[in-house]
Amino acid sequence: MSGLARVLSAARTLHAATPGMQAFSPWKCSTTPEDRPSQPMPALDRVKGFNLPGTVATQPLIDAIRAAADFGHWIQTYTEAEVGRNFLDNYGYYELIGPGGHFRSDQMRGYVAYWGPGLFYDWHNHAAEELYVCLGGQARFLAEGRADVILTPGEALYHSAYQPHAMVTEDQPILTFVLWRGPGLADLPRMQA
Ligand code: ZN
Repeated sequence: MSGLARVLSAARTLHAATPGMQAFSPWKCSTTPEDRPSQPMPALDRVKGFNLPGTVATQPLIDAIRAAADFGHWIQTYTEAEVGRNFLDNYGYYELIGPGGHFRSDQMRGYVAYWGPGLFYDWHNHAAEELYVCLGGQARFLAEGRADVILTPGEALYHSAYQPHAMVTEDQPILTFVLWRGPGLADLPRMQA
């Protein structure tokens, strides 16, 4: 099995073992990889070296993400003017599953996303509904209409359509698997004006 196929398989296993993920979205995704080239990012070595523990359920996906980090088409949708150089040096994600993902789906989107320690991911929103699953590390999540939540390995957190949200990492990085569903599936998140 190729590197990203192993990530897909581990993500599917986690989905099958996590009622909150199943309730959010059924698993609908091709197992045939798209012709999507790898694309590196500054924090690639941090993902490869990610050594904080997951849970029994999340550790296989952490291990697969680390092993296949070189194959991901890593994306940074924000500019230096929006988030600063330090942020860009310490964050990135790739679309494992979705309209533009390594594995095609028009019903769901699944991102692998990493943020290093000491970052503030500023307020943003998007049309699609979202479920963050913390694989390893932790972060504090802020959202309009909800008390702050510290998300730790194995926990999931939901954002509704256009609900403004932000995230803070303190001394630990966070490695996440993020699901999207609903209208706006193919859009990008936008910073608040
Ligand atoms: Zn979001």
